[in-house]
Amino acid sequence: MGPVPRTRDSSSVPVVAMVGGGQLARMTHQAAIALGQTLRVLSAGPDEPAAQVSPDVVLGAHTDLDALRQVAAGADALTFDHEHVPTALLDQLVAEGVTVAPPPQALIHAQDKLVMRRKLEALGAPIPRYTAVTDVDDVDTFAARIGGPVVIKTVRGGYDGRGVVLARDLAQAREVVQGYLADGVEVLLEERVAMRRELSALVARSPFGQGAAWPVVQTVQRDGICVEVIAPAPGLSGDTAAAAEALGLRLADELGVVGVLAVELFETTDGAILVNELAMRPHNSGHWTMDGARTSQFEQHLRAVLDYPLGDTGALAPVTVMGNVLGAAQTPQMSMDERVHHLFGRMPDAKVHMYGKGERPGRKIGHVNIVGGPNGAGAGPASPDNAEYVAGLRERAQRAAHWLSHAQWTDGWDGHSHD
Ligand code: ADP
Repeated sequence: MGPVPRTRDSSSVPVVAMVGGGQLARMTHQAAIALGQTLRVLSAGPDEPAAQVSPDVVLGAHTDLDALRQVAAGADALTFDHEHVPTALLDQLVAEGVTVAPPPQALIHAQDKLVMRRKLEALGAPIPRYTAVTDVDDVDTFAARIGGPVVIKTVRGGYDGRGVVLARDLAQAREVVQGYLADGVEVLLEERVAMRRELSALVARSPFGQGAAWPVVQTVQRDGICVEVIAPAPGLSGDTAAAAEALGLRLADELGVVGVLAVELFETTDGAILVNELAMRPHNSGHWTMDGARTSQFEQHLRAVLDYPLGDTGALAPVTVMGNVLGAAQTPQMSMDERVHHLFGRMPDAKVHMYGKGERPGRKIGHVNIVGGPNGAGAGPASPDNAEYVAGLRERAQRAAHWLSHAQWTDGWDGHSHD
């Protein structure tokens, strides 16, 4: 099959508009530059990460129809750095002729956890047992049914673990549900999954129907926030990896996703895979692709929403580890510039991506990728199945990210004593 004929004027450059001015938009703009494009951004303020770097910024709220119309005007596609735009507004934009990617009927599955659970159930995808909640007594009924601890989740609006409560016991579960219901917040209940670890299957899909999957990764969370990603997931069986990739591609297809889709997974203690969450945008679990894959998730997202042929998703190294830089509880005295300087002095291979955000405790302000070398440097073969090799890369990624957060070396190294 040859390329689909394109209708755009041969001299014009396509315009992708993104709702939200966060780091995902900033890094998508970075990818747009290489394609000869500029990302147009709807940003809540001039200091947001993407507004600092794109020359084409509309200032406004993602809940304001006029601001959405303004950013979408003349754009080839309207896409997202977060999933918080109300569906009614997106439906209105579609009715006015805007190409919304992913389309609202797909995006709803990344916005509403109950809609998502029901759809995945209907598609026969593996998910934790769950129930909708209308009354606090539903907690007792559900707990009796599953015979184990429950998790309470707000149906809408959660991210980075906000809106997720792993209840200690039945009494606390009832109390939490009661509180949400009293505030008019819709919640669902899930079984607490006995898990070995969390994985993510990242894929992309174009309107033409092409799909592409990156290697399945392991994600590590602390306090509900992703802190580390190991690509590919170490020690994952070929069968499980292939099944997770196939699941990601199938869901992208069945839901009609356009762009990047992250399928967050639990690997249970008995080795099964369950779908936790869907995100329809570039995702933290794909930041490693900026340095560790032939096509980054940001470029791929643009290619997908513009219906270009998708890029090669192969890994460039046996293992790449990403460490998130989170704002420290106490902002270090040392400036970020000086921290970066010292990091580069000690770890010349660290690939640093800073978002231009102020430091606040727990806030994602950047990430570091460590791309594994072709040999294990004394640690045996360079392979995701070599625990020592993987541990070495993880240690380096954590050391770099922790340094940028805290201005402290995890191994107690003191640069000055080596002067
Ligand atoms: P968010 O939408 O805020 O990202 P998630 O649904 O992804 O929320 O949940 C955040 C974290 O809470 C997950 O990464 C996982 O560590 C934990 N979690 C969520 N659901 C369950 C569950 N059913 N069982 C055990 N842990 C869970």
